[in-house]
Amino acid sequence: MKYVEQGTWPDTMRSFSIMRCNHCSDAPCVTICPTSALHKRSDGIVDFDTSICIGCKSCMQACPYDALYIDPHDNTAQKCNYCVHRVEIGIEPACVVVCPEEAIIAGDLDDPGSRIAAMVAAGDLTQRAVERGTKPNLWYKGAELANIEPLAATRSNDGGIWRDSAGIENSWLDVDLSGSDTETTTPSRRVTDDAGHPRVVYAIDFPMPWGWRVSSYFLTKAISAGIAIAALVAVLFGVAIESMWMRVTAPFLGGVLLLLTGVLLVWDLKRPDRFYYLLTRGNPSSWLVRGSWILTAQAFAFAVWFLAGAFEQEGIVKGAIWLSAIIGLATAGYTAFLFGQARGRQLWNGPLLVWHMIAAAFAVGGGISLIFSLLSETTAELERTGSFSSNNLALGTAAFTWTMLIGAVALGVLALLEAGQKHGPDAAVAYHHMTRGAFAFEYWIGLVFCVISPTISAVAVLLGTPPVIGAAAGLAAMIGVWMVDDAFVKAGQSVPLT
Ligand code: SF4
Ligand code: SF4
Repeated sequence: MKYVEQGTWPDTMRSFSIMRCNHCSDAPCVTICPTSALHKRSDGIVDFDTSICIGCKSCMQACPYDALYIDPHDNTAQKCNYCVHRVEIGIEPACVVVCPEEAIIAGDLDDPGSRIAAMVAAGDLTQRAVERGTKPNLWYKGAELANIEPLAATRSNDGGIWRDSAGIENSWLDVDLSGSDTETTTPSRRVTDDAGHPRVVYAIDFPMPWGWRVSSYFLTKAISAGIAIAALVAVLFGVAIESMWMRVTAPFLGGVLLLLTGVLLVWDLKRPDRFYYLLTRGNPSSWLVRGSWILTAQAFAFAVWFLAGAFEQEGIVKGAIWLSAIIGLATAGYTAFLFGQARGRQLWNGPLLVWHMIAAAFAVGGGISLIFSLLSETTAELERTGSFSSNNLALGTAAFTWTMLIGAVALGVLALLEAGQKHGPDAAVAYHHMTRGAFAFEYWIGLVFCVISPTISAVAVLLGTPPVIGAAAGLAAMIGVWMVDDAFVKAGQSVPLT
């Protein structure tokens, strides 16, 4: 139930609406669910099977109606399933039967003789968030706009009456949006409103489903992919395959980062014991599943590269570097498609995200390659030549510096393009929170670290400054990418959907 008040005492009105699953005809929760735990039955009901849910919370990001929650008892996603156990034996859902006012009408929309079908045919009904393209099958009659449309009502700073926030971490109600401006086209719903405008007085606290583990997974994945991309740039620069970095250290480190990516992914599941369902029960329409295929392919390419390098098979190493870099582009970018399936989070659905992720891989891949190649090659060079000036080391430094520079500049350009984009209503609020509200500090400092610092340092290195400056900027780029992505992940979830 959502309570909304409007007016100024004593001329006030409170209205109530039920927020629940819409049993959408084009249900994004079904598309994104990696194990098909959520599925559409032939009668149109969107049902769930808790026995195969891995608790990835993707459905909570995909549903634009906040209809799903994680059951704290068995850590699986659950929602209204239209009381299928009752409907199957010919009786109505429990809420319909128990409502003393007959405020809930249920029935078969395909039966023109049914009461519900007649009501829908008569028109004069509203639906929630139809612009998301989900084709919801729930209608409201006589509902206040402020109940149906979250942006039409403000929120009280204390969360409203009877706020139940026990044990909720990262609730969006706790997000400090004091920097937000309600007078502009990017209103925050986190303000006290004494002017009689519609305001939410009772809502449930929801934790943000995804937090630092997801932001960290962005980074580890970007570094892993970036190592392969930077190595390919080095090959194109003519760097010899004989060095330790190019033969074994790079694929080893790439593999370790990939492993860390998997650990973070599994750690974030509410049912980590079922992580292997991603492969054994994979729903091919889910980018979570496609992503797990891509990560597996990336691991395979790194393994080939490492083994060929260990046995000094130069031709195979070169081929494996090409393969790793091409798969690396997919490794870096696929999450943008997963976030694109999260139709409840408009900020994440933008067309620039995939390019941001690939640019981030260039920036951090070039950065980490500079750091580690300097560490490993310098010692080797010193032993061999007594100086740091060998051609191979210089070429490698140039290749990795250019990779970092391209990534950092692209990240900056993409941030500018994002700023100039026309965002949808929810995305505008989320973008406002990210750049001027609660997450602005993290976002802007992150941009300084991953755009300005590596750009200046890379140019300096290319002009002859010692490469250690570039290596330091590579470290800054990694911190910066994490901060920017963390702000992005949190801001995307900071806009309540109910
Ligand atoms: S997207 Fe949300 S409202 Fe639509 S079927 Fe899935 S859970 Fe229900
Ligand atoms: S939590 Fe993940 S596995 Fe479970 S129903 Fe939601 S999307 Fe499917």
